[in-house]
Amino acid sequence: MQNTDRDNPRLAALAYAARGWHVFPCHSARAGRCSCGAPACQHPGKHPRTLHGLKDATTDPALITRWWQQWPDANVAVATGAVSGLVALDEDPRHGGDVSLDLLTHEHGPLPETVEALTGLREPMVRPAAPKGHLSAKGAATPPWRA
Ligand SMILES: [Zn+2]
Repeated sequence: MQNTDRDNPRLAALAYAARGWHVFPCHSARAGRCSCGAPACQHPGKHPRTLHGLKDATTDPALITRWWQQWPDANVAVATGAVSGLVALDEDPRHGGDVSLDLLTHEHGPLPETVEALTGLREPMVRPAAPKGHLSAKGAATPPWRA
């Protein structure tokens, strides 16, 4: 059976980088325990393995390959914002995000077709049609989403 990017983090990272998305490796979690080894880790599998984390994000296939050779099970993180041309929209219904999103789409129109992160929550990642000027350095988006 052929490995796919769905079950191989290295292939996923390389596929994201080929789209121009800057990636970096994060720790992984097994049975709720983080690969960092800290018994009380507050973010199992969700914090960077590299020293500078987000600032280390790259599209360089050689570096990506080296990282995932070193940490084959590392989770793949994507740097959002202008660097990757992405906006991550976390709807977070636990904090009223679904209501806020309904209000915004009612006022500004529906979100464009996009990809969605498979995290258990609805977290669409939007590649906006608007120019990069609509993205802040931190990746926050301001309506309108349509150009
Ligand atoms: Zn940890």
